[in-house]
Amino acid sequence: MSAKRLGSAVIISGPSGVGKSTVCGKVREQFPELQFSISCTTRQPRPGEIDGVHYYYLSKDEFEKRIANGDFIEYARVFDNIYGTLASEVIERVQAGKDVFLDIDVQGAIQIQAAAEKNPLLKKVCEFILLAPPSFAVLEKRLRDRASDSAEQVEMRLAKAKYELSFFRKYNYLVVNDQLDKAVADVAAIIRSAGLRTDRLPEDFLQ
Ligand code: ADP
Ligand code: 5GP
Repeated sequence: MSAKRLGSAVIISGPSGVGKSTVCGKVREQFPELQFSISCTTRQPRPGEIDGVHYYYLSKDEFEKRIANGDFIEYARVFDNIYGTLASEVIERVQAGKDVFLDIDVQGAIQIQAAAEKNPLLKKVCEFILLAPPSFAVLEKRLRDRASDSAEQVEMRLAKAKYELSFFRKYNYLVVNDQLDKAVADVAAIIRSAGLRTDRLPEDFLQ
């Protein structure tokens, strides 16, 4: 097989508290060769988070300079901070045949879809997964049990979740995070089948 096959960019998003970090952590264990896109953010690192590993932590000024420089394929304001995906985290890697995984919010995923309409490379390589809770009651329980937010913040996140889930038809796949192992297996199946798509093959794929 020719080495010129393109990589896939697998984008996962879903409401806060649905289990993205938990699912992505397990996916990372199963696919050590999968490259995770490291986002930029203006939020402060949480205890244990490392610059250049979990995020690139930028000041608001630095972030805005990079926006003006055209460095991002998408960026969005999420709960008072700005988050963005650097083109360099995605484009060069898929061109080199590497698969990239992105954990970004719904606004960001929709921006990448819009960009893909004008960018044939993005159009070829992107797969969009929406991670959904089994019900709003379960999402509320996960947000409360996580105990990192006040009651008002939980209400705000739930209202936002209803809005975000209304975009489900914009995604190629819906994975319900009920049983964690099943959700991880579903995401793994999507990553594997993405690697088999004909869109990513060069004309001379057999030599
Ligand atoms: P997100 O990254 O989407 O905000 P987290 O990964 O932080 O969400 O998960 C929110 C909470 O739900 C955490 O306490 C996590 O342990 C729990 N959780 C995640 N997936 C499941 C699951 N399938 N079943 C039960 N609890 C889960
Ligand atoms: P956290 O601050 O908990 O790490 O992430 C908060 C939210 O920001 C999550 O929903 C996560 O998916 C989203 N996020 C992380 N990186 C990016 C990014 O590069 N772009 C966008 N649009 N959202 C992101």
